This record gives sequence, structure tokens and C-alpha cells, in this order.
Amino acid sequence: MLEDILRKPRAIYYGLPTWQKAIVGNLYHLVPQRLRLGKNYLKFQRLLEASEYWTKQQWEEFQYRELLHTITQAYDHVPYYRKSFSEHGLSSADFTCLDDIKKFPTLSKKDIQENYDDLIADNVPAWRHLVTTTGGSTAEPLAFLQEKGITRSKEHAFIWGGWSRVGYYPRARAVQFKGRSVGNPKRNIYWEYEPIQGFLEMDSNFLTESRIPLYLDAIRDFKPEYLIGYVSSIHQIAQFLKTNPRKDFPRFKAVCLASENVYPWQREFLKEVFGCRIFSHYGHSEMVLLGMECEESHNLHFFPQYGYLEVLDAHGNILKEPGETGELVGTSFHNNVMPLIRYHTQDYGIIGEDECKCGRHNPIISDVEGRLQEFIVTADNRLISICVMGAAHFNISKFVYETQYYQERPGHVVFRVVPRGDFGEEQKTIIINTLKTKLGDDVTVEIEDVERLKKSQNGKHIMIEQKLSVPTYMDNI
Ligand SMILES: [Zn+2]
Repeated sequence: MLEDILRKPRAIYYGLPTWQKAIVGNLYHLVPQRLRLGKNYLKFQRLLEASEYWTKQQWEEFQYRELLHTITQAYDHVPYYRKSFSEHGLSSADFTCLDDIKKFPTLSKKDIQENYDDLIADNVPAWRHLVTTTGGSTAEPLAFLQEKGITRSKEHAFIWGGWSRVGYYPRARAVQFKGRSVGNPKRNIYWEYEPIQGFLEMDSNFLTESRIPLYLDAIRDFKPEYLIGYVSSIHQIAQFLKTNPRKDFPRFKAVCLASENVYPWQREFLKEVFGCRIFSHYGHSEMVLLGMECEESHNLHFFPQYGYLEVLDAHGNILKEPGETGELVGTSFHNNVMPLIRYHTQDYGIIGEDECKCGRHNPIISDVEGRLQEFIVTADNRLISICVMGAAHFNISKFVYETQYYQERPGHVVFRVVPRGDFGEEQKTIIINTLKTKLGDDVTVEIEDVERLKKSQNGKHIMIEQKLSVPTYMDNI
């Protein structure tokens, strides 16, 4: 795949002056899509089209075959798994049906950090290794390997395929907000056209009340059909538009949110301001699981073609009943270099109803409850997911732009706010009272007003900077 070969030149490309970038980008774009995205892109695209409405039985057969391949590759060629399976008295021959997966040991982020070299397969040449890292919003950044020629093709096919549920097509005009540094901030330009993907790429790190009008003018002039990116950035734009409505602002076909957890109150607010479908998906840098909304609902439909999803309770039991909450644990498909088997994502989800109006028979998660670290610990050691704090945020958005929780001891949270307009003791009291209705009496709240909030390495919004180790309190969920 050309994009993998061009990975290093791409870094050079991003360093070029804008006019040179435009020339190179437009030339690159003349290369046919088949060549740019590779033959595997088409393979995955065909798989997606052919299997979209498969029955449960067809999925079980497909997933058994893929899992057997992953487990066999791991046992035959990956030293870490060979050892750990043997310690449990297992080999790949013990995987005879889907249910057998529960016999196999799970894998944590710490296991990957401590056994990185032993997790690399001995039968894949080093030139096929694709090194990836997690952004690490709250956890330590983690490195792992994927496969050149496959991983990126697969990702493009699944993301674009999923977005097609709201009409997206490759090369649609879209504005994207990610943490990438673009434009020329010294000249008040915080964006640039990215001809390789056809996006107007905007830098989310400079979004402030005084600069947002400049961003809005650039979006209007670009005439996009879609708005894509971090919900935290798009939410800031929406807040501005709510108090400063603009008639000339384009109406999007959909807003596609990526990379950050989306809270229901954020979705409601964006829908009210933009008046279009707010569409989100769940994914992660490890690329083990991918869940996407559908035409009919906001529930996340996990692609059975992409990886194998399990929902586990705190004791490692598999949960199946709608309404139950557990950790999302995944097994990767299509990664022979470093297969991840029963990998703990540290994300929590609520199991949704089996069937959906759209007719797909995919495992459904009605809500991702939040990253493991996205909980507040009360003085009584209760855990409160920051998802449930939604209504509180909604009520205070009139006088704050951005918010972030900080906690370093149970029962006390610091609530950092970037204020807007008049902000004083009266507003602080309102915030404290609003938060306390959700948190209860065993939590004290301290307000800290700041100019900017700390972001992750990738420029993502960090909803909570949690210094406590939440797993220690996990039995209380
Ligand atoms: Zn559906």
C-alpha cells in the first residue's frame, strides 16, 4: 500500500510550505485510489458489503475461523502466547468452538509493556512491522505493532464504510478538527487544505472565544458537507454558535465524531445547534474493536468482521444480558505481527438489545460508560462515571467554555473551568451546587478557573485527570 511506503515522506510533506504541499498533494491525488489504498482496501470493502446483513450463525462461523487463525498464529509463532497458553495447559487445538475463548488468558496493557519483544511473531519480516502508539490521555502511552499493507487499508475501509451510513463517501468535502498543527498561527491561520484526504484540516489547539469567528469564516468559505473530529473541539464551536448565531453558516449532512468519548449531553447539544445527524464511533489505537452507530440508532454496532468483542465483569466472567455493564475485551483479527488476544481495553460498556431496526446482527453496546480512569471516587469509595455528570454540564455551559475534573484523593474533586463572560463567586456557587446534586454529600468540590486546559499528546481533551488508581475501587461499580 502506497500510504505505508510514503509514511516517512509524509512527515517531510507535512513540513513543506503550504503552496508546495498543495502541489505535491494534488499530484498524489492523481494516483488511482486502488494504488493509494492498496489491494487490501478493496478486499475489506468487499467483505463489508457482502457481510453487512449476515445472520447470527454466519457471524459465528466467520468469527470462529478468524479467532482460530489468530490463536494458531499466536501459539505457533509468538513466544509470549506459547508460554502463557502452555502455563494454562492450553494449545490452539483447545479452541474448538467460540465458547472455548473463555479458557484462554486475558492480556493487559501492562503485559504488553513488560513483554513487548516476546509478543512479536517470528514469521513476519521486520519490514512489515508498523509501529503505533496510543495517545495516552490518562494512561501511560503504549507502543505495539501492526501490519503494513493491511492495518491502514482495513481502517480506511471500515471507517469510511461506517460513515457511509450517514452518506459519507471518500473525498467528500469535510472539515476535520484534530490535534495536528497546521496553518500559520503567527498570521492567524489555524487550518490548511489537506489534498491527500480532501479535508480542511483545522488545529483544535487554538480554539478560543476571540479566534472562533476566524475559524467559522474559513469553514463557511470551504462549503463542507461534513464536520469531523474531536467532540471537545466541535462542542466549543457549537457553544459559540449558540450564543452568536450566524445565518451564513453551512448546514452539514452529518457531524462525525471520532477519538474521544461522546457523552449524551454533548450529542443533544450539538444536534440542537447544527440541526443534523450527530454520528459517532468507538475505536482505539490498538485497533482491536470498532463500534459504529447505524442509520436507526445511536447504539454502537460492533463490526464482527473487525475483531472479537467480549464484555467481562470484574472477575473475568463473560456477560451477555442486555443492560449489564462490563469491560470491553477484544481479540484482534488481521494482525499477524502482534496479535492481541482477549485484550483489556479498560473501557466500559452497557450491553444493548440484540436486535436493531437496521437489520444488522452485530453485537450492540448501548453506551460506552467511560474509560476505566473516567470515574470520580467519593469519600465512601463509591465510583461515579463522569458520563452521569452530563446534566450538570448542560446547565453550566452558559458561563464556562471547557471543563475538566482533577482528582488526587477520594471525596474531593477539583473542577477546572475556562470561564466565559462574567464569572465570579455567584457562578462558582451555582457550579458547586449543580455538581453536588450528582456527586452526593461525600464529595467536596473546588473550582479552579484557568485560561487553558491540559490536553493529551494528541491534542485530545482530557475529561478527567485522575491521579487515583480506579481499578483498586472497581468492585464498587
Ligand atoms: Zn442498527
